[in-house]
Amino acid sequence: MSLSIAEPVRTTPSAASENATKRILLLKPRGFCAGVVRAVDIVKIALETFGAPIYVRKEIVHNSYVVDDLRQKGAIFVDDLEDVPEGKRVIYSAHGVSPAVRERAKERGLKVIDATCPLVTKVHVEAIKFAKQGYSLVLVGHRDHEEVEGTQGEAPDVTQVVSTVEEVAALRVPDPNKVAYLTQTTLSLDEAKYMIEALKKRFPNIVGPHAQDICYATENRQTAVKNVAHGADVVLVVGSRNSSNSNRLVEVSQNLGTNSYLIDKAEDIRPEWLEDVATVAITAGASAPEVLVQDVVLFLQGKGYGSVEEVEVMPENVRFGLPPEIVQAIAAAPQSSRPSA
Ligand code: SF4
Repeated sequence: MSLSIAEPVRTTPSAASENATKRILLLKPRGFCAGVVRAVDIVKIALETFGAPIYVRKEIVHNSYVVDDLRQKGAIFVDDLEDVPEGKRVIYSAHGVSPAVRERAKERGLKVIDATCPLVTKVHVEAIKFAKQGYSLVLVGHRDHEEVEGTQGEAPDVTQVVSTVEEVAALRVPDPNKVAYLTQTTLSLDEAKYMIEALKKRFPNIVGPHAQDICYATENRQTAVKNVAHGADVVLVVGSRNSSNSNRLVEVSQNLGTNSYLIDKAEDIRPEWLEDVATVAITAGASAPEVLVQDVVLFLQGKGYGSVEEVEVMPENVRFGLPPEIVQAIAAAPQSSRPSA
């Protein structure tokens, strides 16, 4: 049915009131963390200064949109250093690498730029310190995650990875009084607390890092979800399937009893998720760019979610400096073509 211009659009009272109450809560902080901004900047600046192609070991961050965008700009993502031609330039991802990978890069004469997040490097340093002091190391995390592989690689002979309390119970160490624990940076805070309690019960003299290993970005995004999930019918988390911190945001919401879904992009939203849903909260994992969040907002606005309210749970102003190879490359570039850091 088409309406003439003069004919007023009539909405039934129930539809009108439904639209009036349909709203979006946009959580803050959300999306890119300082480690991801730094890693993506490193690849972009390397492409601008050294020219394409630039090789990147593994996905620079776990987000398919970001990876596809950099691929189009000339980055070549490889799973293995062996796929990088001898003597070429390679960037390590934000998740870090083990010493064995660093050694292999040296043997192959590769020019390395390290985009490991400084907060991941901090965990590597702790692993080295505890191992040197003779501790058996327990690393709480997901064993197939690149960050965990890299950290475990600092002291592979003395490090065991656990991700369940059953695995804690099954641990065997040479001296139960000389055990230290570390955690992956992107775990759920509650899950980590639970696992550390289990470790402390099993090894009463266990020692850990001075400050927790879970990074500020993971903690802040989870805290924002915890603050808002009870007031929402659904929490949408923008992030890729292989993004650890994004998956944890979904779990945090679900554990609070609020339905939550992980989406790479707006088109992933299924109509049944929005049935009888008045309030949708949106957040984004630390590797998901804001442009994808704004697409989701536009999509929902098209479905009648007219009101958008940004809920800032805490401020976040962290920035990390660039690695020396990139700072030197910027300084060496002619003034006119110097990339902005
Ligand atoms: S999520 Fe945390 S550890 Fe990972 S890159 Fe961001 S700041 Fe670094």
